[in-house]
Amino acid sequence: MTTKNEIIREMKNAMEFYKELGFEYLPVKGLGLSFKKERESAPVRKSSPEAGSDKSDKAELLKMLREEIGDCRRCRLCEGRKNIVFGEGSADAELMFVGEGPGKDEDIQGRPFVGEAGQILNNLINKRGWKREEVYIANIVKCRPPGNRAPEDDEVGACMPFVERQIEIIRPKVIMALGNVATQSLLRIKTPISRARGNFFVYKDIPVMPTFHPAYFLRNPKEKILTWEDSAKVLEKLNA
Ligand code: SF4
Repeated sequence: MTTKNEIIREMKNAMEFYKELGFEYLPVKGLGLSFKKERESAPVRKSSPEAGSDKSDKAELLKMLREEIGDCRRCRLCEGRKNIVFGEGSADAELMFVGEGPGKDEDIQGRPFVGEAGQILNNLINKRGWKREEVYIANIVKCRPPGNRAPEDDEVGACMPFVERQIEIIRPKVIMALGNVATQSLLRIKTPISRARGNFFVYKDIPVMPTFHPAYFLRNPKEKILTWEDSAKVLEKLNA
């Protein structure tokens, strides 16, 4: 049974967490006992062997896809890139994040979401009790658009088959689409992220939760609460 001290400790943890994120007020949902319960039940489950887990096959297929992409020159984004940022994480992930494209740090390191925006995504992942290595993170375009501009339609068109194949191989239980480009490209909709977020859509039978791109929070830190709320719905779906 939960003691009074445990309740106080949990509430204190929750308040410190929100303060850390820059909130000046506390959301009603996600506080107190339910906050603890969410974090305890949060780890992203892997497919059970009974369900036909084929992690090594998936990892091999992802490797083959990376080899197929090779030193890709299918669109003009190849011209300024240092590295192709393929994506990373568990081939057997139940949760997949799809972002827009690599930024400067990602281009240098060849890994997705390792810059400032990546820290915000990591924070969300960790605070939800997930582990970065248990989820899969990829982008719509795999080469950095110059000056961090949004990718053009033809660049998205050239690169989309790769992220589609990644999704097909991994078959996550839920996808979180980060920002306008990821949401609109995956779902083929024009709805702005401010209206799409918080509602589940479907991509090839997979529920997709659009939410703001973490880079948005560099300018609007207090809006992080919206993605926190969106991730609560994802958590619920993963645990269903
Ligand atoms: S963005 Fe995609 S399609 Fe364009 S060059 Fe890079 S890997 Fe190829």
